[in-house]
Amino acid sequence: MGVRIAEEWLHSCSGCEISILNTGEALLDLLAKIDLVHIPVLMDHKYYGQLGDDKELKIPEAVVGIVSGGVANKEHMEVLLEMRKKCKVLVALGTCATHGGLPALMNEWGMKKGMEDYYKTPTTEPCEVPNEVVPAPLDRVYAVDEKVKVDLMLPGCPPNPALIAEVLTALLDGRDPVIPGKSVCDTCPTQRKGKGGVSDVRRFVQNAQYDSEKPLDEMRCLLEQGLMCMGPVTAAGCASGDNGCAPSCISARVPCRGCFGPVRKDGNQMLDMMNALASNGIDWKTVVDRRSLLRFSGAHDLLRKRSTRKTTEE
Ligand code: SF4
Ligand code: SF4
Ligand code: SF4
Repeated sequence: MGVRIAEEWLHSCSGCEISILNTGEALLDLLAKIDLVHIPVLMDHKYYGQLGDDKELKIPEAVVGIVSGGVANKEHMEVLLEMRKKCKVLVALGTCATHGGLPALMNEWGMKKGMEDYYKTPTTEPCEVPNEVVPAPLDRVYAVDEKVKVDLMLPGCPPNPALIAEVLTALLDGRDPVIPGKSVCDTCPTQRKGKGGVSDVRRFVQNAQYDSEKPLDEMRCLLEQGLMCMGPVTAAGCASGDNGCAPSCISARVPCRGCFGPVRKDGNQMLDMMNALASNGIDWKTVVDRRSLLRFSGAHDLLRKRSTRKTTEE
């Protein structure tokens, strides 16, 4: 019998689950050592008993629990608490689970106003916000560690399949997983020459300057070209695997958008990026929408409702 593993998705798009499947050959090796006792994306499971007549939600016991997605409603909360109760080790998988991810953009308005705006938008036939059958929303979108104790965070949108395989293999081997702890910049081969004489942030409506015939290490750093590349404030992790060991977006010669979340677990990508811009001699006031820098990490009360936000960024 293998090590029992349970997986759940909360406020998730299933991209994290696809990343688990994309671990490829490593998954074949792992399957010989694990028992997937619960994974709704792959197999049916009746939460309230086979006939639906149980009173309490039940998930089988497991050694390792993996949770993707943030926590946005009461059903997510119930499932998460059950996962924490039944799993010895809990892994938060993907940036939605570790930092709120894209759904936490809603935190700028709060769930109530966001839902009202969505359902009552003047461009469609206005209707009431559903409040029957669907689970009641929480006040905002939370990262998983805001609600329960998390043993291991593995961000990325989607997370890197090679790192998922490494985490699971390490847990099975009883060792600490090797996870890159540095920033995207630390894995980036582009040329850095110091302050580049660019004083304003350029909107990415025109390509970066590079010679497509020449390798990546002959392209100048995108931030030094004045593009909003969030490599300095974003956790490394996308560079390992099949992309030639350069960060994914930089390989495509486009700026990092910050999808692995902050370098430090409790970092603030918006404030840290303002510092990074200043260090590069770029005027941070030329950033059009600073809040958008929290597009992947708006949980942990970083992206607050406009009326209650305490920062003076406006
Ligand atoms: S982290 Fe990205 S891939 Fe994973 S659930 Fe969230 S949006 Fe989807
Ligand atoms: S800012 Fe962007 S382009 Fe420059 S080194 Fe960092 S990741 Fe690479
Ligand atoms: S370069 Fe940045 S945005 Fe692109 S995959 Fe890597 S962490 Fe995500």
